[in-house]
Amino acid sequence: MAGPDPILAGVAGWPVSHSLSPLIHNTWAARAGIPGYYVPLAVEPFYDAFARAMDAARTLGFRGVNVTIPHKEHALKYAAAASGRACAAGAANMLTFNSDGALADNSDIAGFIGAVREQSSVSGTTALVLGAGGAARGVTLARKELGFEEIVVANRTRAKADELAEGLGAAAIDWDDRDQALAGADLIVNTTSLGMSGEPPLALSLDAARAGAIIADIVYAPLETALLKDAKTRGLRTVDGLAMLIHQAVPAFESWFGARPQADAHLRALLTSALKVRGR
Ligand code: NAP
Repeated sequence: MAGPDPILAGVAGWPVSHSLSPLIHNTWAARAGIPGYYVPLAVEPFYDAFARAMDAARTLGFRGVNVTIPHKEHALKYAAAASGRACAAGAANMLTFNSDGALADNSDIAGFIGAVREQSSVSGTTALVLGAGGAARGVTLARKELGFEEIVVANRTRAKADELAEGLGAAAIDWDDRDQALAGADLIVNTTSLGMSGEPPLALSLDAARAGAIIADIVYAPLETALLKDAKTRGLRTVDGLAMLIHQAVPAFESWFGARPQADAHLRALLTSALKVRGR
């Protein structure tokens, strides 16, 4: 007798072959004994292509699709409804299909909260966010739950920092003032693509960083960016991008595969090995 149809889900991006999401979700599904497949979907960087791909995924019975660069705004446009988180962030990384269409959500916020909370004692009032793109919005929206009253945003394009700051109740500063702003911050987060393999390094001096400050970098390839290496050398606490990547996957897996997964050390070790192989 045939069993139930396997659960289908995936991640849409362009490019998408670098995505670790299939490894995360398929590992969780196998561990829980849930029959299902989470697949990468290479979708050209245009809204029409994205909408066609999502229509096809719905027709094929996908429960949902994670969305990565460059489709996070397309996902919001495609959705029939969106969570308050996705609306506030202006971007969605998760589409859940239902009979009415698709519901857009943003789990980057929960991902960042989960990653920072792995540092057992998060304290302080001020966070410095470097960057003002989609990820910076998610990180800024995590402020309340993490207890940061003041957020300062530095971005290369000042107008984007101003726009984010105005919309989300933060303060904007010039990119060139980031080293000075760091002195007053309890949490410093790189949300730019600087420091990523193939990108220029992030130029940031940690000389003035507070002794108890947490340095977070949401870039995860390489896993230990030059910023995190410098912070560790100085004895500062660090949060890496892999922690956020794992935590942001939890809501999607729970929603589509129907079980709460464990963001544990075993999964982290598996993903770290995959990143090492890729970096060779
Ligand atoms: P995005 O919307 O394109 O924003 C990119 C940001 O990087 C902008 O603030 C941009 O500044 C800045 N930037 C790019 N090149 C720069 C340069 N040469 N000098 C100074 N600033 C520069 O991208 P995103 O979606 O926010 O993603 C940003 C990074 O976060 C990516 O590396 C992505 O992989 C990572 N990410 C990780 C996770 C995770 O789970 N770990 C989740 C989401 C994103 P301008 O405004 O001046 O262009």
